[in-house]
Amino acid sequence: MNDEDSPQDTIFGKIIRGEIPADIVFQDDTVTAFRDISPQAPVHILVIPNQVIPTITDVTEAHEPLLGHMMTVAARLAESEGIAEDGFRLIVNCRDYGGQEVYHLHVHLLGGRPLGPMLAS
Ligand code: AMP
Repeated sequence: MNDEDSPQDTIFGKIIRGEIPADIVFQDDTVTAFRDISPQAPVHILVIPNQVIPTITDVTEAHEPLLGHMMTVAARLAESEGIAEDGFRLIVNCRDYGGQEVYHLHVHLLGGRPLGPMLAS
């Protein structure tokens, strides 16, 4: 089965494969990072694995190098975006109560203004 045919395929899979446009700020063999289409802060970037992992609860120990790499990429992007010194926030939403809309694991990198309390309610 091709990725395109997989029930796990999402809009993020199409971005990774270049099938729909996105403002990609970093990509390598395992990770892609692009600007969120509906930014919640001056800097709002999504860091995603190139392989489909639907939610954070789908990870295994085998994913640990990949997950670490996602964190490193997020930290380097925070620096290159100029938000590292003031501070920023990384968020992983999981399923319904977590507010996850796209079922392809992603880390939100948010910054560029004070972000306020961690939860809106
Ligand atoms: P979540 O609610 O954690 O699943 O976050 C999904 C994020 O994906 C939201 O912040 C959306 O604005 C963002 N998003 C959805 N479609 C696109 C797209 N085509 N390009 C960039 N970001 C997107």
